Formats: sequence, C-alpha cells, structure tokens
Amino acid sequence: MTSALADHIAGVRLVDNHVHGYWLAAADRRRFENGLNEANIEPLADFDSGFDTQLGFAVRAHCAPLLGLPEHVDPQSYWERRSQLTESQLAAVFLPAAGVSDWLVDTGLPGEIAGLPEMAAASGSAVGEIVRLEQVAEQAAASPGDYADAFRRILFERSKTAVATKTVLAYRGGFDGDLSAPDTRAVAEAAARWRAAGGVRLTDRTLLRFGVHEALRLDKPLQFHVGLGDRDCDLHRTNPMLLLDFLRQSGTTPIVLLHCYPYEREAGYLAQAFNNVYLDVGLSVNHLGARAEAFIGRTLELAPFRKILYSSDAFGPAELHYLGSALWRAGMAAVLAGFVRRGQWSEADAMRVVDLIGRGNAARVYAR
Ligand SMILES: [Zn+2]
Repeated sequence: MTSALADHIAGVRLVDNHVHGYWLAAADRRRFENGLNEANIEPLADFDSGFDTQLGFAVRAHCAPLLGLPEHVDPQSYWERRSQLTESQLAAVFLPAAGVSDWLVDTGLPGEIAGLPEMAAASGSAVGEIVRLEQVAEQAAASPGDYADAFRRILFERSKTAVATKTVLAYRGGFDGDLSAPDTRAVAEAAARWRAAGGVRLTDRTLLRFGVHEALRLDKPLQFHVGLGDRDCDLHRTNPMLLLDFLRQSGTTPIVLLHCYPYEREAGYLAQAFNNVYLDVGLSVNHLGARAEAFIGRTLELAPFRKILYSSDAFGPAELHYLGSALWRAGMAAVLAGFVRRGQWSEADAMRVVDLIGRGNAARVYAR
C-alpha cells in the first residue's frame, strides 16, 4: 500500500453516526463472550466461546496491544487482563483510541450503560443523541390525554437537542406490509388497545407506522435498523427492498439504513435510487472481523460515495467502540489500496472518499 493513503486513513477523525453506551457494571466472562455474539440472546452453549469468532479473533488482534498484551494473545490471558480493569477504565482506554470526533448515541436501550455524559467524558469527544421512536411511544402511552398529541409533544421536546431519530421496526414485525401513514381514528383506537394492554414493547403496526411518519415530519435524519440483529429481529423481513413504497413517500428527510448485512447490496441500490437514502456500515464491520474488508468492498459497489456513512454500532464491551474504527480503517485501506494499485482510482480520489465516508457525509447529514 502507498504510505500516504495509509497515513491518511489512519489519521481521519471519524463521526460515528450510530453507537450505544459502554457497560458501566463489570461483566463476568459469560456475559463478555455473549457480548461478542450479536444474534444469540441466550447464554452461549457450554462447548462454544465468543472468542472463537471473527469478532473474538479481532479483539485479540487489535485490542490486546492497547491493554499491554501481545497481538493474538490467548483468550484466557486477555480475559484476565481485562478483568483487572473496571468497564469505565476500559472505556478510557478504548474510546479515545477510536479516533472519533463525534459519537451519535442511540439512547433507547435499557440497562446499566453509559449515557451521553459518560460517553463524552471517557472519550474527550463530542456527543449527540439519537431518539428511539419506540421509546417515545412508550412515554406517550404512559402520559395522560390523547396519545397522538402526547407522542408529538414528547418527540418535539426530545428532538430539540437530538440529532436524529431511529426506529426498530425491524424488531417489531419487519418491513413487509403497509407502511403508509395511518388515519387519526385508527391511531386513537390502536393507542387505547395498547394502553389497556400495559403500553410496553410496542408491536402494534398502526402505532409503529404513526411514529415513523411523525419522525419524517421533523426533517431530522431517520435511522432504520436494517438486517443483522439478534434473533428477536425477523431478519428475512428486514430486507430494505421491502421499504421501497415507504421510501417513495419519504420526501426529503434523510433515511439512514443502518448495519444492512446481509443486504448491503440492496441498501447500496436504494442509496443510488433515492436522494435521501443513506447506507451505514456499522455492526457488521465488527462482527465480520478479518472479513470486514469484503463487506466494505461490497458497500463500495453501487452506493454513491456521498451516501455511505461510518458507524461502529458498538454496545457493551468498550472494545467494540474502538474495534469498529480499527476494522473500518484496515478494511478501507486494503480495498482502496487495491483500487489505486490497479490504476482504477487515483490516490487523491481514494483519500477524498475516505473523508466523505469517515466524516464528511455524516457532518452534512447530521449538521455536525
Ligand atoms: Zn444500534
């Protein structure tokens, strides 16, 4: 690889456009190894290990040196060294090392995880909030009076300081079926039913559709979880092509398709087809480890270069906040160096595309 391109990729300050907090409470080994597995929500089988995965190998390769250990150190030594530090101490090692200037944090996950102040303090970088629509729905269900009015009021208040909204429709039935805006009476009836049932974990299709269309009206970017997730997500119903009709109605609000694996090619097509559709590389990059390079290569097929965004989608172990960056940089370096070596791209163009994907596009979309 040419060293100027490598240096440029190593130095770019990233905007991580979709990330969650790191754990605040100490993890036991089982929880840590589960944290290296995205899809399985049960404890891993006794014979299995989160270390024997692409992500586990990537932790030993890229994270071990930051803890003073040799690359590829054995899992037991890694675990013992990690256990000597608190999760907050680990965050203070890994977050600054990610080279991220702005963390855009989805605050919709429950549990003992870092919020915006902890993320800012551990990293020394700026933070912005992404509001989860299904959490706003739960807040509206718990509020007195008309549901739609309460939803609009809460969304408006929270979005004053937030940079974007996000929907987990993928986890609540998926994308297939009608995604048009429901009428007022249908919303009121659905809300009455949901409130009577307790008003938790929204799966009502009418109210999910209502929330997404209210978010469109805010004119702030709207993120969709797409593809890879835990097994509560009906993966086969999260192909973003199922969003085509919705995207045709989505106007000018930026729609960011998050994660996308294994539908990154479909997402790339949609990013080409619609001015307001973007594609994000998060989550998959961490879980694909040494194969992240191939994934990054596929995202650089149809998607216009001004429509691709960086994220880690890190959650839990602070290693993931760093690894997303390390693997993205390594993957981009390998893929782009290949383009330059074969005379298909100039080195100057390669550097410019690194800047667009690493921060320029996100700075434009989220007004950072
Ligand atoms: Zn996420």
